[in-house]
Amino acid sequence: MDQLRFDGRVAVVTGAGNGLGKEYALLLGSRGAKVVVNDLGGARDGAGQSANFADEVVKQIKDKGGVAVADYNSVVEGEKIIKTAIDNFGRIDILINNAGILRDRSFAKISDQDWDLVFAVHMKGSFKTTQAAWEIFKKQKYGRVVMTSSNAGLLGNFGQANYSAAKLGLVGLANTLAIEGEKYNIKVNTIVPTAASRLTQDILPPSMFEAMKPDLIAPVVGYMVHESFEGTGLIIDSTLGFATKTHLVRAEGSALRKKPTDPVTIESVKQNWDKVVDMKDAKHIQKISEVTVNLVDKLQDFEDRS
Ligand code: NAD
Repeated sequence: MDQLRFDGRVAVVTGAGNGLGKEYALLLGSRGAKVVVNDLGGARDGAGQSANFADEVVKQIKDKGGVAVADYNSVVEGEKIIKTAIDNFGRIDILINNAGILRDRSFAKISDQDWDLVFAVHMKGSFKTTQAAWEIFKKQKYGRVVMTSSNAGLLGNFGQANYSAAKLGLVGLANTLAIEGEKYNIKVNTIVPTAASRLTQDILPPSMFEAMKPDLIAPVVGYMVHESFEGTGLIIDSTLGFATKTHLVRAEGSALRKKPTDPVTIESVKQNWDKVVDMKDAKHIQKISEVTVNLVDKLQDFEDRS
C-alpha cells in the first residue's frame, strides 16, 4: 500500500509534549503534516507550566525534516491554540484533543477543585479547542477530530469518579459532533487508549508498562485523522498493537403493561425485570434515529394490541 501521508494538512495535537500526544505529533510530522505541538507543560495533576515539553517535541520533528511550531496555551483557552495554527500555517485540518490530567481520589474525598480542574482540562478544553476549529472546518468542508476517552469512563474505575465522568462526557460530545459534522465532511471519532505514560506509571504493573508503548497507538489515531478515513462517531479502543471498536448495546427490553389502559406499577416493573435486563437479543444501536424508529414500532404494536 502507498504510504498514507498528510502533505498540505495542518494538525493541532493538544498535550503533545509527553506520552501519547507526543507520539501522535511525531508521527504526523514525519508524514508531511505541519504540526502545532500544544502543551501547557504542567505536572500530571495540572499544577504549574513550562515550555520545555512542547519545545522538545518541536525540535524532534524539525530534526527529522518536519515542520512544527510550539504552543504553550492551556486547552481551556483553545481558541488561542487554533489561532497559533492559523497564524503560522494559515489553516487547520486535524485536531487531536489529547491533553489530560489526573486528580484521583476515592469519591468521598474529591474536592471541588479536583472536580473542576479535571472537567476544565478534559471537557471544557476539548469543547473550546474544537469549537474554535469548527467554523473553519465547516467553511472548508473538511475536518478530522479525535476525542480522547478512557476505559475508566466507559466502565468506571475506583478512585477516578471525576476523570470517569469527564471521559464519558467526551464520548457524548463526539457523538453529537459526528452528527452535526456529517454534511461538512467533518469526521469526529474517539480513541480509548491504554499506554505507558506518566499518567499510568504507578497504575500499570511494570511488565505491562514496558510493553504498552504509546507509539503502538499513534498509527491508529493517524489513520483516524487521515483524509481517506470515512468513519465517524466511532469509539476505538487501542493498546499493545490491537484496536477494537466498542459501543453501547440495548437489550430487546420488555413491555411493562399488557394494554395502554393498564397502569405501570412498581410490581409490573418487577415482574418484567428479567426481560428488561436480558441481553440475549441485544441490538447494536448506532444512531438516535434507530431508537426513535424502535419507539414508533413499539407504539404501533401497542395500539394494534389494544
Ligand atoms: P501525559 O501526562 O503523558 O500527557 C498529557 C499531556 O497533556 C502532558 O504533557 C500535559 O502537560 C498536557 N496537558 C495537561 N493539561 C493541559 C492543558 N490544560 N493544556 C494543554 N496541555 C495540557 O498523559 P498520556 O497518558 O499521554 O495521556 C494523554 C491522553 O490520553 C489524556 O487525555 C489521558 O486522559 C488519555 N488516556 C491515557 C491513558 C493511558 O493509558 N495513558 C488511558 C486512557 C486515557
